[in-house]
Amino acid sequence: MLNVPPQAFPAPSSQQRVAAGGRAKVPLKPGRSLMDWIRLTKSGRDLTGLKGRLIEVTEDELAKHNKKEDCWICIRGFVYNVTPYMEYHPGGEDELMKAAGADGTDLFDQVHRWVNYESMLKECLVGRMAVKPIAAPKGMLPEKKVLGASARDLTPSYDWFQTDSLITIVIYTKQKDMNAELVIVDCEDKRLRGEIVDDHSYLVEVDLDHAVQEDVAVNIAEKVGKVEIILKKKDNIHWKMLGQALESHNTFIKRTERGLFYRKCKLVSKTEVTHDTKLLCLMLPRSTHLCVPVGQHIYLKQTIAGTEVVKPYTPVLPFLPLDFKEPPRHDGAHLYLMIKMYSCGLFTQALDHLQIGDYISVSNPEGNFKKSQVQTSEDLFLLAAGTGFTPMVKLLNFALTEVGCLRTVRLIFFNKTEDDILWRNQLEQLALKDERFEVQFILSQPAKDWVGKQGKISSSLLSECVKRSRKDSKVLICICGPTPFTEQGVQYLKDLGYSQEEIHTFTA
Ligand code: FAD
Ligand code: NAP
Repeated sequence: MLNVPPQAFPAPSSQQRVAAGGRAKVPLKPGRSLMDWIRLTKSGRDLTGLKGRLIEVTEDELAKHNKKEDCWICIRGFVYNVTPYMEYHPGGEDELMKAAGADGTDLFDQVHRWVNYESMLKECLVGRMAVKPIAAPKGMLPEKKVLGASARDLTPSYDWFQTDSLITIVIYTKQKDMNAELVIVDCEDKRLRGEIVDDHSYLVEVDLDHAVQEDVAVNIAEKVGKVEIILKKKDNIHWKMLGQALESHNTFIKRTERGLFYRKCKLVSKTEVTHDTKLLCLMLPRSTHLCVPVGQHIYLKQTIAGTEVVKPYTPVLPFLPLDFKEPPRHDGAHLYLMIKMYSCGLFTQALDHLQIGDYISVSNPEGNFKKSQVQTSEDLFLLAAGTGFTPMVKLLNFALTEVGCLRTVRLIFFNKTEDDILWRNQLEQLALKDERFEVQFILSQPAKDWVGKQGKISSSLLSECVKRSRKDSKVLICICGPTPFTEQGVQYLKDLGYSQEEIHTFTA
């Protein structure tokens, strides 16, 4: 479904367009990049054919617009005429046509609910569904509580109390294994948002009765599942109430049904990692409590030529800790992102132009990786290509620090040239320091003097590099890189006899 179209990426002839399965991107005609689309939306052209009017659309009316040359799609109760967008959709016209004349909400959410279609398609808005909206607009209608006796028993609840100087909100999560990664708190001006996230999301969202100070404390009683959010009153007055409930306050819904929340973070440093890759350090607001779990990514949002564009990035550590005896000090106040700046990249060019002190919107974390996947592993293999290295950083640190049964960790790192290898020195030092860790660099376009391995991901290469340390050892193989690289890797591994449960791919 709707996707943020890369400019000319992958290049029309690139293998990256020929995905082995799953969601292949299709070649876009020249002049059909995201930037071209943004230009078209700003051109003043009537893209809906309704001369700027917004109408109420019945289901019958929607169903009539089901052809490529006349295609309307409903997403969360809003109807868009996507006919002019057809040729700009990187997933291809056929993918878009799957929802022609119908409600595309589920399809959209399955593929990439994070894409900010509201901004991308605002000039294509025809109107709202009449009578009964097919799906609730994100955050517009009251969200359902999870039904069913057992789910109801697990529904968290909250309470609050005050002293002269403090307001404490207590969330009873009814979860025994609470931890800091499951609690996300933001407080901007008087708006407090406290979310408990796991497979479900519980939200406390209020417009506070009075102003509070910037620093917010979060206490977690892990065993009993109690979370305290402690706010400092600006004025020592007695509050009659906590505040006004906002629309999603006190709701408990599936995590995937909750809209992404963004807060503005300050760029505090930008350092070179390689000739084209930089380490960006973003500072979270003092009133934000957010930790990005291992294997998860965040979304960055920027307004480019008047359109909001969103891209995923996987936070890393500021460096690879070499002393694994102690878990590294958790630094929740900063996010480190290792980002390759593409010379023709729409988003990364805009990022590269950010100055120290500028702000950028950062979303809540998302991702399909669970620590439990690695907790029982004896052999861990990390297959990374280019910036596909980023999810491996925290994973490597977590595995070497906290997975007791681990015997080997092997990073097989694919790059074009030596100059492209990220954190090569640190990886080599780590391999010297920790005998469980081994790194192998494989170059696809090496210089003549490269004495290491060369080539691309292949069955023979994987059969050579990925081997159980013992006949029956528990293995986890994590893969990340360009989509075709990942898809080919999975196929080769399956052909070599590894099961689906033994392979993890990172996706958005
Ligand atoms: P686009 O405008 O989409 O276009 C790309 C242009 O750049 C093309 O014209 C081409 O010339 C060039 N280009 C792009 N990719 C390639 C390539 N592979 N080879 C050659 N040329 C290319 N990226 C990071 O740098 N760090 C991360 O931590 C990170 N995490 C991610 C996590 C997830 C879950 C996913 C799905 C992606 C992640 N990415 C990461 C990729 C990131 O989201 C963007 O796709 C990337 O930054 C390119 O965005 P862009 O708008 O600048 O490029
Ligand atoms: P790159 O430098 O272009 O490529 C790195 C290595 O992968 C090179 O050896 C390259 O060989 C090889 N490669 C590229 N495309 C391939 C293909 N189709 N089949 C087999 N090998 C291929 O990589 P990059 O620019 O850093 O891109 C990294 C990718 O990782 C991006 O697509 C990004 O979106 C993705 N990523 C995903 C996540 C996630 O969590 N899902 C996180 C970070 C990054 P060649 O010489 O043949 O090009």
